[in-house]
Amino acid sequence: MKYQSFLIKYAEIAIKGKNRHIFEEALVQQIKIALKRCEGSFSVSRTSGRMFVDALTDYDYDEVTTALGYVFGIVGICPVRIMELKEPEELKRAAAEFFGEEYPDRHVTFKVHTRRLAKNYPLDSQELNAEIGEAILMAYPDAKVDVHEPEVMFHVEVRERVYMYSHVLPGPGGLPCGSGGKAMLLLSGGIDSPVAGYMCAKRGLKIDATYFNAPPYTSERALQKVIDLASIVARYTGPIYLHNINFTEIQLYIYEKCPHDELTIIMRRFMMRIAERIAKATECEALITGESIGQVASQTMRSLACTNEVCTLPVFRPLIAFDKEDIIAISRKIDTYDTSILPYEDCCTIFVAKHPVTKPNVEVIRRHEKNLDEKIDEMVDRAIETDELIIVDRDGYRVVGKE
Ligand code: ATP
Ligand code: MG
Repeated sequence: MKYQSFLIKYAEIAIKGKNRHIFEEALVQQIKIALKRCEGSFSVSRTSGRMFVDALTDYDYDEVTTALGYVFGIVGICPVRIMELKEPEELKRAAAEFFGEEYPDRHVTFKVHTRRLAKNYPLDSQELNAEIGEAILMAYPDAKVDVHEPEVMFHVEVRERVYMYSHVLPGPGGLPCGSGGKAMLLLSGGIDSPVAGYMCAKRGLKIDATYFNAPPYTSERALQKVIDLASIVARYTGPIYLHNINFTEIQLYIYEKCPHDELTIIMRRFMMRIAERIAKATECEALITGESIGQVASQTMRSLACTNEVCTLPVFRPLIAFDKEDIIAISRKIDTYDTSILPYEDCCTIFVAKHPVTKPNVEVIRRHEKNLDEKIDEMVDRAIETDELIIVDRDGYRVVGKE
């Protein structure tokens, strides 16, 4: 085993004061969940402001670092060499040897950064920096010291044992999933909503999702695409409870009763109403959409105001001021893009008007929604009653059926 442990770095700015403990505990839990998928056995511990993953058995390095790379809250993963506390001569020799293993070609500039927490150790940190640096230079003359901009920061911590590390693999940042409560994502098959869900999850929210499906106008493959997208986001969030809502009769009814240039807005208002009811029934404290100002007619400021008006929960729109290019860049990074651009219709694209209103008037929209009074309540109730719950995880999904 080349590394017995990983030092986990996390951003500390967000976790000052009393929240620190809650944050750290949530991070430990998320790390444990991520490691359950890996071969081997591990312990996760917090000691004096440090978080460590210790391998108790053999493990696969790539598998473990990949798994940790999906855990929100982690900013850096440092593979660590641990040795017993030894006399300075032996410590120096071991440090130089580890350096040689880490940088086989040795044409690097480096700086040694020592922390001595074992206060009775014969050398202090300044002396250790100098002597370990010298030992490395003696062993590997191609390496060079650069104290200002070293390519390699070689860390040595002298505690009850000695910890050495120099590689820092990037983590995804953010806050541990679930540490901020749970929200309901309106998830369509497009590019934007999976990215919006990812972004809120990154800020510590657990994500449930609602998809509005319009069979037979939309195919099974459109639903499968949404499941696949949820599955990719689930790499970061853990299992996502996806509510598959049959929206067909509501859509047809709106199509029959309301002016066609207002179809999208009215439809969106019903999506928000239904998503909110499911959210409230499942302890979600906010809604999340992939909307972005001006992207399409239903996302002008006025249109957003109209859809917002029907909600009492806060609506999070993390992409509100993002250009499409920037959203695409994130979707590529998180790997949803190739799935999002598959061509299967989602329910909105079928009932779109040629010239949708861009400046809807809420009063007018409300008046036109009155045309639906006769049947809409029972239709909304039915849509919610026939909610099909699908639990989606990174490697599959399970249709639970009606909740
Ligand atoms: P996306 O790329 O996420 O599909 P979009 O650019 O296609 O977004 P719209 O179709 O106007 O934009 O939808 C805006 C937002 O409304 C979506 O980001 C999503 O949150 C929600 N939404 C739209 N259609 C659906 C649907 N069929 N099911 C669930 N949510 C939807
Ligand atoms: Mg869409």
